[in-house]
Amino acid sequence: MSTIFGPVHSRRFGVSLGIDLSSSHKQCNFDCLYCELAPMPAMDHQHTITPVETITADLKEALHKHPNIDVITITANGEPTMYPFLSELIEQINKLKGDIQTLILSNSASLNDRSVFNALLKLDQVKLSLDAATPEVFKKIDRPAENIKITDIIENITRFSHLFTGKLFIEILFVKGVNDSPDEVEALNRALLGIHCERIDIGTIDRPPAYPVQGLSFEELHTLSHSFDPALVIHIVSRTHTSATVSTYSNDEILTTLDKRPLTMDDIDALFDLDSKERFQFLLSQGKIAQIERSNVIFFTPTANIDRKRSK
Ligand code: SF4
Repeated sequence: MSTIFGPVHSRRFGVSLGIDLSSSHKQCNFDCLYCELAPMPAMDHQHTITPVETITADLKEALHKHPNIDVITITANGEPTMYPFLSELIEQINKLKGDIQTLILSNSASLNDRSVFNALLKLDQVKLSLDAATPEVFKKIDRPAENIKITDIIENITRFSHLFTGKLFIEILFVKGVNDSPDEVEALNRALLGIHCERIDIGTIDRPPAYPVQGLSFEELHTLSHSFDPALVIHIVSRTHTSATVSTYSNDEILTTLDKRPLTMDDIDALFDLDSKERFQFLLSQGKIAQIERSNVIFFTPTANIDRKRSK
């Protein structure tokens, strides 16, 4: 079985070839409630390991077949940073990749390991999960292997964010009644304010989860997004946009809403009724609303808001 999959087109990251560092079965140091893979006790190391040479040979072949790739994404059926030869593998990928970006999707737990921390610094883009900020909720939602502590994870993500010269994204997945309480969101907010990142993607369950838990509606995610500090660039990643109820917004309400949290066109399509969309387009044409781009995602925000932030 090849260790490479794709190309997969992602609006956030472009055309991607994926590398699966645990292609035969799930190997993870978490056992998240919402995992789309089967439940399995968290483990602290990989038991089945693919040689670096096999992966690089598969990658060479795939790059030859698919020359127009934007990003090589390192992932796994489980947690890719548990792969014991990660540093060596990233060095080999960097030799092959040319102009293509490299990206890893990680649950952040292995940043505690200095060699993993240093290996991730050699990538172009890193996406780290942070589903909770308090020990109780972290244990409940992510069900980590023993000795993995959320305080260490937050400290490591923060330190990493100050050293990393590439693009860092944080992802939070919300589960109804588990990590969506005001206290937990406030704790996440405090943690995020110390982290330097491009964007914070918030989402919810949109595939059958490992355990019987429920996701949030788009409206609930939207409401929750307002609990975060306006300085944080929050992006709602949800396939449940279409279930949102549209509302009417006046010109002032549009500007106030965008001031609290910049919205994407998907958000606007999901939240605004037809008249409000016309008012939005009018404000945009009048220069009252501006666009900001954060790694392939366009946000709309009041122009005055940009000026205010620039003057800080
Ligand atoms: S970290 Fe990812 S692979 Fe591991 S249990 Fe959680 S969702 Fe599944």
